[in-house]
Amino acid sequence: MENHANQSPAIPKWSALLVEAVTKPGLIMKAYSAFHQYSVGNQILALVQCQMRGLQPGPINTFPKWKDLRRFVKRGERALTLCMPITCKRRDEHSDEEHTFTSFVYKARWFVLAQTDGQELEPITIPDWDAERAIKTLSIERVSFDHTDGNIQGFARRRQIAINPLAQLPYKTLFHELAHVILHTSEGDFTDTETTPRSLCEVEAESVALLCCESLGLEGADYCRGYIQNWMSRESGFKADAIPEKSAQKIFRAADQIIRAGRSEVHSVTN
Ligand SMILES: [Zn+2]
Repeated sequence: MENHANQSPAIPKWSALLVEAVTKPGLIMKAYSAFHQYSVGNQILALVQCQMRGLQPGPINTFPKWKDLRRFVKRGERALTLCMPITCKRRDEHSDEEHTFTSFVYKARWFVLAQTDGQELEPITIPDWDAERAIKTLSIERVSFDHTDGNIQGFARRRQIAINPLAQLPYKTLFHELAHVILHTSEGDFTDTETTPRSLCEVEAESVALLCCESLGLEGADYCRGYIQNWMSRESGFKADAIPEKSAQKIFRAADQIIRAGRSEVHSVTN
């Protein structure tokens, strides 16, 4: 059951999954409602695999977890692949200190409800999401909007954000500024913005906003989608590699952090 990773079809890159999410309205929402316990990247990875195999999206579990739920995986079903974090240790040759770091591996060990039979499942409830809880959990401070330029919707400084009280799409702006803090400003020295072109920073923040707005069913996703598509067509003539793989990974991770931080319940999650 464990090591089908070598046999499974090539796993799409995160940038390709992000382009899917940007170009297909409704995809993120569908992935979130079926797979909200998993990270945003894994949700889309699971959904894309379901679509490729013609499987109805639904709850996913490992083989033993389905057994605990008194359901069994049907004969001949192939596991879905998700990305899992693993903690590794490495000993520094010079100082002889041991460092731990997180690495990611792809494992084919999940099955969707439609691949199983057995006892009925309890209905799944999707946890509530609250903006103030998210801000607090992320140790970010909301400060008052002190810009005189009314066209500015919001801004981020180190670990502070401000949203224009007249912002047209306040949730979109909130997610965008939270993303800047997580990805660009929290180190204080803008180290990221020096190496990441300004326009790419904006696309990263706007992509996080898109993933959050659409997952949570909040207004703003259409605007983000338009902005990112416009940027992609300018940068690359709209090829899947418009967004660098590293940026795509950062975007998925930040969206995931924001969504988890605002949730009403703490989940025991695989990833
Ligand atoms: Zn921005």
